Amino acid sequence: MEKLKLGIDVGGTKIAYGLLNDKNEILFRYQTPTPLEIMPAEFTQKLYTEIDTVLKQAGCTAEQLTGIAAAMPSYVDYENGIVITSGSIRHIKNYPARDILQKKYPNIPILIDNDTNVAALAEHGCGAGRGFHHMVYVALSTGLGTGFIVNDQLFRGSYGGAGESGHMLITPGKGVTDGCGNPGCFMSYASGSCLVKHALLAIESGTETCMTEMVPDLSELTARHIADACKQGDALGQRLIEQLIYYASLHIYNLFIAFNINCYVCGGGLTNMGDFLLERIQEQVDVFNTQENQQVYIKKTSLPGENGLIGCGIALDTALGKI
Ligand SMILES: [Zn+2]
Repeated sequence: MEKLKLGIDVGGTKIAYGLLNDKNEILFRYQTPTPLEIMPAEFTQKLYTEIDTVLKQAGCTAEQLTGIAAAMPSYVDYENGIVITSGSIRHIKNYPARDILQKKYPNIPILIDNDTNVAALAEHGCGAGRGFHHMVYVALSTGLGTGFIVNDQLFRGSYGGAGESGHMLITPGKGVTDGCGNPGCFMSYASGSCLVKHALLAIESGTETCMTEMVPDLSELTARHIADACKQGDALGQRLIEQLIYYASLHIYNLFIAFNINCYVCGGGLTNMGDFLLERIQEQVDVFNTQENQQVYIKKTSLPGENGLIGCGIALDTALGKI
């Protein structure tokens, strides 16, 4: 009976479940949409039911599981397995995820971690960051998140919250808010959700754009529409994508100059806009970087859509002392 690990990657749009073997290859995958307004009790029930479904569909039993890891788009208390706050699933806060899963699976080791942390583990272990002793995973998506690998290990910081660099302030008190409480953080310029907020503000103040024809109901406007408008030569679309490139580059450059970490692996939905995005971020970082002979490498994830689940497997191996 093959031993397997279960990874649960909770994202802003979907929850992906994966069964992984001892090489952290995904043998079975299952996913459902993320209900963003879900309440804690329903979320628990959803996890219980869907784990049962995964095991049933894959034809295996809970006895085969050597560990369960859940990656959350959240501020996580790793030591205690508690989801403190979650930007996208807003009702899930101070949620004792590990205890809740442990109740149903009392004999299986369980860990809860932040989604960008596990993605960093995956990219460092077997993705685009392999071979770099220090690297940062940068999630360019609905939000802007990071995961730090220092000396080949995940760096958590004093309170376990390292990697919230998207909320470093760049124009305090100015710009839009992203929910962290401080307008003017990097995320408020360089994230999908805030690109939309900037677009709506510009449209409200009378800026002409083809986005109003593309999306007659502006409540449905997404970063993808803004990218499409940019490609069609729309002035507002181009300005917003340039803003994204500028602040994403500044964010990376500031991390480089503070920590001298030279590898930044970028993933997340915004990177699907096209190769030009990371090429332009590389160019802009090179403009900021005046350190001669200190190349900063901007790389695209080599595990798109999989680094969360693979990272869950690596996080379990690390916690169980197998790495
Ligand atoms: Zn913020």
